[in-house]
Formats: sequence, structure tokens, C-alpha cells
Amino acid sequence: MKRLLPLLALTGTLLAAQPAAAQKSVSPEKLVALKKELSTEIDKQQKATQQMVDMVFSFGELGFQETETSAYLTGILKKNGFVIQQGIAGMPTAWTATWGTGKPVIAVGSDIDCIPKASQKPGVAYHDPIIEGAPGHGEGHNSGVPLNITAVLALKKIMEREKLPGTLMLWPGVAEEQLGAKAFYVRDGFFKNVDACIFTHVGDNLGVSYGDGGGNGLVSVKFNFDGQAAHSAGAPWRGRSALDAVELMDIGWNFHREHMEVTQRSHYVIPDGGDQPNVVPSKASVWYYFRERTYPKIMEMYADAVKMAEGATLMTKTTMSYEVLGSAWPGHMNKPMAEAMYENIKMVGLPTWTAADQTLARAVQVEMKAPKKGRDGTPIDGLAMKVDSLKPPSEFSIGGGSDDIADISWNVPTIVLRYPANIPGLPGHHWSNAIAMATPIAHKGVTAGAKAEAMTLLDMLVKPEVIRTAWTYFNDVQTKDTKYTPIISKTDKPAISLNKNIMAEFRPEMKKYYYNPAKYKSYLEQLGIAYPTVRTGTAAAAPSGGE
Ligand SMILES: [Zn+2]
Repeated sequence: MKRLLPLLALTGTLLAAQPAAAQKSVSPEKLVALKKELSTEIDKQQKATQQMVDMVFSFGELGFQETETSAYLTGILKKNGFVIQQGIAGMPTAWTATWGTGKPVIAVGSDIDCIPKASQKPGVAYHDPIIEGAPGHGEGHNSGVPLNITAVLALKKIMEREKLPGTLMLWPGVAEEQLGAKAFYVRDGFFKNVDACIFTHVGDNLGVSYGDGGGNGLVSVKFNFDGQAAHSAGAPWRGRSALDAVELMDIGWNFHREHMEVTQRSHYVIPDGGDQPNVVPSKASVWYYFRERTYPKIMEMYADAVKMAEGATLMTKTTMSYEVLGSAWPGHMNKPMAEAMYENIKMVGLPTWTAADQTLARAVQVEMKAPKKGRDGTPIDGLAMKVDSLKPPSEFSIGGGSDDIADISWNVPTIVLRYPANIPGLPGHHWSNAIAMATPIAHKGVTAGAKAEAMTLLDMLVKPEVIRTAWTYFNDVQTKDTKYTPIISKTDKPAISLNKNIMAEFRPEMKKYYYNPAKYKSYLEQLGIAYPTVRTGTAAAAPSGGE
């Protein structure tokens, strides 16, 4: 059991056994017929898919505060016979939903949280928030779990009828924007009996990749400085400014940038900079993301930052403590599983876009001054018309974003299915990325993604070689020289109070805009939005009222 050794040493937990030989195989002809049936069934579920996508969009909940979203999604799964475990790994909004029996155990996940200040009316091609300043799905995380639910409910029917053994475990990426949950799921053993994991993430094409995708991992750390309050004018010499320490730490870090490798990304916000100018700030904090391409480099940045924070306390006679709020390894996705998924992607193909879909997409691209070409040279003009290629590992990378699905990918063979629910060429983490997310673009993109996912899950259930070769790649290639070491410690706790105040401020107003599918065919209809609403040549925009 070669694969157990490194993992045992790290987690102290006995990880999944190899999938039992009990997997039932079917003839190639039968498999083709079953996949066709999945596709037909998922097409029939388009109404339910649209409702889920629109509903989660309307909740617009930030990381760790996804209470409505989790209650709604687990409600649907429970009604369909899934066993729910709520509040896993110390996170009230985290859960698993399990159905089926025996091996293989396949985890199916996607993120559910949204972006601060990204409130936006769907289908409107310019900035027009539903509620000014409120959070919104400016990353498209409203669509992934609805996709997974659509896929597994179609598959469940076939599994029941054909008596296919296997266990499906759905789970949400809570607080992905804070890289806040997945390392805790791994640490607390929720993937220890899992044989493979399919993760879905919104994109602008149907695609999958394998190996090192060129992204960064990160550690998210908040430094809390403690000083001494005093009257800023009456007795400033008696004060010790915690804010001075924050600023000096930031200055130190910004000078240090010149001597860091180009692959690093580091950025910070100051969640607490004191209360008012005439009180010397006794407390102040600064929150950093430190990103690099490898685990040792991330940890080196982290150690450098702690030194700088200590330096800042020496300069200001303050004290300091720090806490990890999130973490992610650099990702590595499984090759045999990606190859299996890609065969299905080719079969499914891209959705048929209407003129209205393309008009919206092009108007948003003009509005956002989208580049003419993507970073890989693909032209950007409206919605994707050609299915993405199977992406091999990147040979060269200047670094980039992070996703804590990576922590799962270093413990269980994992792939990420990207599906075409959004518009190409947008900046990301932005209100414009929310525009498509409760429109026919997202609905059709999710349906296409659900088909590719359901077909690949079926492959994994009836073709034992998919998971077997996945583990061979995992053991002999991926983890041959690189062993997973968690960035979080055994005692770190998920940062579940993050975003509490923001949601408390906006939720009462947001509730008025929750989607009501009993009354309205779509969220667009509920908001009274003509699809698409685009600028009409002047600054005057088409009315989009109705609320
Ligand atoms: Zn995301």
C-alpha cells in the first residue's frame, strides 16, 4: 500500500483503501446508451437547474456566512435521499451530503461563497447593483453546486435502476475566497475514505486540465498589533500606536518586494486602523495573502513577514500576535481522470448561444474593455464557440491565483471541470463577473457542465481502470517527490467570524430580493430585467427597474 505511507505520516489517519473490485462493469455499447440517457435526463431538468442557479445567486452570501445557501442546497439533497452531515470541520455552513453504498467513494464539490461589493443585476451590461455596496456573485460561485446536484440526481436514477455500487459525497467550498475551508476538511478526515474527487468551477468554456496548472498556493495571515491609547494632542508621548506598527510592517514588506521572485504575489488590507484621529490607536491589524509557486517558498514568505512584523513592534514599542485565516497548496490535477473527463467534454460540446446571449457578452466585453485575446492567445469575441483543448501542465508560469481545492488534490486524485457559465475576458472578483450568472448563459453552461460531470462519474463507477490509473498517477508521478504538508496546524480553527458584520449589515435588505420561483419563471423576470439590457449608444441606459 505504497500510497498510504507519506499520507499516514502526515495526517496520522488511515486513508482510503483502494476501490474494491466490486465495481460493476458494463459493455461499451451500454455505456454509450447510459450516457445518452444522462444527457436527456439533464436536459429535462433544465427548469430545476435554472431555479437553483438563480436562487443561490439571489442569496449572495460571503465566505463562512453561507447559511441560506447551505440550508437551501442541503434541503434539495435531503429531499432526494442524501444523508446530510451539517456543520462539519467546525464550520456552521459546511456539510457533506452522501448517497449510495460501497466503493468507489467519489467526492463532488464546488464553491458557494461570493464577493464583497459585487452586487449586480443579472443581464444588464453595465454597473447596476441590486443593492449598492452589497455582496454579490462576482465570481459565479452560485452555479457549481447546482451543477453537481443536477449531475448526481440524473446519475442516481441510473445507479438505482442498474444497481451500480458506489457512494457519492457532495460538499461545498465554504469561504473559497478566504481559502478558508478545504485544508480543514482534509485535516479533519472528511476525505480519508474518498477514492476520487471531481470539483467544478465556473469558467467561460468547457474544459479540464492536469498537472501543475501554474497557479500559486498561499497562506492568509492577520497580524494584530497592540499599543497604548492616549490623547493624540494632549499626551501623544504616552501613546504607542498600533497603526504605526501596521504601516511600518507594510513599508518593510513593500521594500522587500524588489528582492522577491517574480512568481510571488502578496497583498494586504487593513481591517483595523484605529477608531479616530484623536485617540492613539491601541489596536490595529493588517491582513496579508502570501502567494508562491511551492510550499517551501510560501513558508519562506510567511517567515519573512513574521520577522517584519516583529521589526515593526521594535520600532513602535508595541506587541504583536498573528493568526492564519486560510491556506492553499499550489494545485496539481490528475491526468487519467482529466483524460476521461475530456472525452465526455468533447461529446457534450458547448451550449447553443442565442443572439441575445452574444449581444450581452459583447456589450459586457466592450464595457469592461476586455482584451482582444486571452493569455493563451484565444481570441475574445462574445461567448466561446469552440470547446477548450485538454490543457497539459504549464511549463512556465509567472504565478497567479490560488484555490484551496489544491489541498484536496494532494490527498485524493482530483480534477476541476470548468464550465461555460460566464463571459470571457472579464477581470474576475468583480461585479461584471456577476452579470451572466443568473441568465440563460449560466443556465445553459451549467447544463453542459452537468452532462460532462455525470458522464465522467458514470465512467468512474463502471470502469475500474479510471480510478486505478488515477491512483497510479497520484502515487508514481504527482506525489513521487512532493509530499503534502498542511500549512495549517493541528490547532488552527476556521475563521468563521469573517464577514459576519458585512452580512449583518446587508442581509435584511438583500432578503427582499431573494428569488421566488413560485411566482416568477426566472430571477430576470422577478427583477423586471429585459434580456439583454445593453447601453443604447448614449450614456442613458435602458430601464431595468421592477423592484
Ligand atoms: Zn472561484
